[in-house]
This record gives sequence, structure tokens and C-alpha cells, in this order.
Amino acid sequence: MAGTRRIVVIGAGGAGLAAALEAGRAGADVLLLEAAEQVGGATARAGGVVYASDTPVQKARGVQDSVDELINYYMTVSRHELEPRLLRASAEGTRQVIGWLEDLGITWNPDRLYIAGLEHKPRGHMPTGDTRGLGPAGGAMIVAALLTAVERADNVEIRTGTRCTSLLTGEDQVVVGVRTETGEEIPADAVILATGGFGAGTEMLRKYWPDAVRHGDWHWYLGPDTNIGDGVRMGLAAGGELRGRGGTLLETPNFGRLNDAFTPPWLIYVNKHGHRFVDETDTYCVMPHLIGRQPEGRCWAVFDDAALQKVADGGYVDPYGLGVDLESNWTAAMLRRQIEAGVVTSGATLAELAARTGIAAAGLEATAEQWNADVAGGRDTVFEKQGTLAPVSTAPFYAVELRPAIIGITFAGLRIDHEARVLDTAGRPIPGLFAGGEVVGGLDADVYAGGGTSIGNALVFGRTAARTATGGAA
Ligand SMILES: Cc1cc2nc3c(=O)[nH]c(=O)nc-3n(C[C@H](O)[C@H](O)[C@H](O)COP(=O)(O)OP(=O)(O)OC[C@H]3O[C@@H](n4cnc5c(N)ncnc54)[C@H](O)[C@@H]3O)c2cc1C
Repeated sequence: MAGTRRIVVIGAGGAGLAAALEAGRAGADVLLLEAAEQVGGATARAGGVVYASDTPVQKARGVQDSVDELINYYMTVSRHELEPRLLRASAEGTRQVIGWLEDLGITWNPDRLYIAGLEHKPRGHMPTGDTRGLGPAGGAMIVAALLTAVERADNVEIRTGTRCTSLLTGEDQVVVGVRTETGEEIPADAVILATGGFGAGTEMLRKYWPDAVRHGDWHWYLGPDTNIGDGVRMGLAAGGELRGRGGTLLETPNFGRLNDAFTPPWLIYVNKHGHRFVDETDTYCVMPHLIGRQPEGRCWAVFDDAALQKVADGGYVDPYGLGVDLESNWTAAMLRRQIEAGVVTSGATLAELAARTGIAAAGLEATAEQWNADVAGGRDTVFEKQGTLAPVSTAPFYAVELRPAIIGITFAGLRIDHEARVLDTAGRPIPGLFAGGEVVGGLDADVYAGGGTSIGNALVFGRTAARTATGGAA
């Protein structure tokens, strides 16, 4: 009977809170277990952008969009590697999530809709609301809204500081509960895995995403330490199948642990041959892949002394007003410190800079010549970069190597179906086991479709998992 079902949700980020709320609303007896001392997970640290199409917010802005267009875009970006049934569930679900969050107290300003990926229509929905001190920006607003609603439900209990380490299984692979780190066994009619990604799990990164850790101690994760991949491990141990690979990385000069997601337009990036290869302000959805494909995977940011004197003010740190804890590497004060420390290489001429860094001198000089002519003409004729362009013409010249090493999101995870049932290696649902959020794989393939797809999917499949687990699925 639905009213007496006991649901255990593991992980209290966006997916877990959404699942707990919906399972509670469906009349289940819900226990939400969270490893950290505070709820929120990566969701609470996030900008909180939700990627959605055909929403009232878009309509208020005059944007004509549709669920099918979003699915087509997603399929193109993923080169048809993803299952349309999941994308349809995601696209339909995120459209509904916008109104669902509104009912929970979130507001969306149509003027703040923005292009959050590689698409041409603004689908990035930025929330406004109370953070309750749970984080810096929109992600915390979403968590706060969910938490407030969960706290009002007397059939949902939250237990923080409780890490789950394994699933209890009965006959025929049926999941019948969970075991915590302290050995407590908690029976359940259904378990929903919502443990997030594994960005803090070096072992799992080595296994499923070695590129993320190839730069040794340069790599670090923007999310919480508790996101080590427990849910993926538990799901696989219960017979689940792994789907997906890769994730999102940000390039960094490794000056410190700064979340520097956006590159100021006055920098140019060159490869070992001294060639530019991208609009340097291009989205993080594609940048790490492009850097990785350069000769030896190497890339340097180059600028000159005039840029250091004039434009390195850090003003480009948050061009979309995400409000996340962003901090620029590219301030004059930081750069001067790094030049002094020898981390940023300098040269009296471009040829000297090239010799000191290992960049090909002829290529660098030719690139600077083209770039300077473009800046003088007011247009980047090669990569069509917009914004404040600055020439590379005043000595001394500077270069610092960048590596894609800051982990934002991990894509590999458990295979689910459109009803959020965890599937086994034969493609059959594992009885009693459901999943939503970054613990799930198969919703991204290499290239990230756009900022907001992760939180959107976490909320959608968290909700769906609750609906299915409480017996409301088709
Ligand atoms: C800084 C930052 C900014 C981002 N910005 C955006 C954005 O604007 N839009 C967007 O779509 N995406 C963004 N992302 C990605 C997005 O936030 C996540 O993919 C998404 O929020 C994941 O939600 P989740 O509920 O699956 O996981 P999380 O929110 O990470 O929650 C997982 C929870 O599970 C808990 N947990 C883990 N293991 C266990 C265990 N064994 N037992 C009990 N609990 C456990 C964790 O402690 C954590 O609280 C951002 C990520 C970061 C780090």
C-alpha cells in the first residue's frame, strides 16, 4: 500500500531533497540520509541555473522554444549517443520543474534568462529566492526551497552525518534496505540513490575518468568531499550498469584553488605551435576538450604588459551574474605575484617568451601579428571573439600554462530508464532500486549540453524516482 511504503533516500542534494519531498507527498514514510553534516551537496554550491525549454519564463521574454527543439539540440551535442527516452523525460520534466519550484517559492526573472550552452535560444533559468545561508547563490535557493517544504512534511525524516555504505538485498536481487557506515541496517521497500557525482573520489576518477586526474595534484573538485561515488559503487554492486564517461572541467593556471569559470576576453590562448585555436571566452562545455586535443594537450594564456597595466582588473569574473563563489586568476595583483614567483613566464620579446615556455616562436609571432591587426581593426577575424580585446604588443610579454583540471561534474553513473529505475546489465529494472541526479549516467556524452542541465536532471529524476518508487509510475 502506497501510504505505508518505507522509502530510504540516500543523499540530500537537489535530487535527494526533491525525491524525499515527492515521496512524502505521495504518502510514503521517508527517511533521507545524508553523509555530510549539512544538506545541499553540490547543488547548494551551484549557480542554480536550470536548463529548460517551452517555459512560461521564456514566453514572457518572447522566446519561442519547444521540448522537441531541446531534445534535438541535446541529441546533436551528444552525437546521438544518448537515449531519447531519457532526454524526453528530462526535457518534459525540466519544463515542469520551473513551475514546481515556483510553487515552492522560487521566482524566475525572464530578463535573466541566458544562453547557457551552445544553443541559440536562452534556456538558462536563474532562480531568485532565499538561500537560508546554505550556499552562495541560486543552487542554495533551490535547496532552501526544497528543504523548507521537506521540513513541513511530518512523514519525512532527515538524518545528516549518516553515510550509507551498502545496499541490503534479498532474493532475486531485490533491494530491501541500506547499511550505514556504523553498521546500522535500515529496511526499506525502496531505495533511491541520490548521492551525486564522484568528483571527490580519486579512485573512481582514475577508473572511470582518467583524464580528470592526468595533471596530478592540479586537479580538485568544486563540490563537497562526500561526493566520492558511493551511490555508483552501491548500484554496481547491486547489479547495475555503468553508463557515460567524462564530465566538465575548467582550465586553470593553478595559482590556487580558485573557481575561475570565465576567461577575460583580453587573454589569448595558444598551443605549442603558437597558434590560437578557439574564442578564449567560449563555454566551458567545450573548452577542456579543445585544449585536450592540442599538440601534447598543452595550452598557454598569453598577454602583454599593457594588458597587465590596463585591463587585468578581474572585472570579468562573473559575466552572467551567477553569484557563485567565483574568484578571478586574472587580476593585476594576482598576476604580478605569479610573475614574481616565476609561475607566469615573462620575456622581453615574443621570441624570448617562446624559448622560455617551449612554444614555437614563429607561430607565436605570426599569431600576435594577426591578433594585433584584428584588435586594431576592432574585430577578431579568426575566432570572432567579442568583448574587450587587447593587443599583445608591449614588452614584457607573459605566458602561463593552463590545464583542464578543476572538476565540476562527473558524467559516468548508473544506467536508469525514463522512470528512474536502476537497470541491470541485461537492461531490466533492479527491484526496489531507483536513482536520480549526478549518480546517474547516460544523460551527457563528452560535451556538456549547457549550464543548468545537471540541476534540472537532478530535480527531474529525483521527482520521478519518488513517483515510481511510491507506485505512481506508468
Ligand atoms: C560549484 C558548482 C556549480 C555548479 N553550477 C551548476 C548550475 O548552475 N547548474 C547546473 O545544472 N549544474 C551546476 N553544477 C552541477 C550540479 O550542481 C550538480 O550536478 C547537481 O546539483 C547534482 O545534484 P545531486 O543531487 O545529484 O548531487 P549533490 O547535490 O551533490 O548531492 C549529493 C549528496 O549526496 C551525499 N552523499 C554522497 N554519498 C553519500 C552516502 N554514501 N551516504 C549519504 N549521503 C551521501 C552528499 O554528501 C551530497 O550531499 C555545479 C556544480 C558545482 C560543484
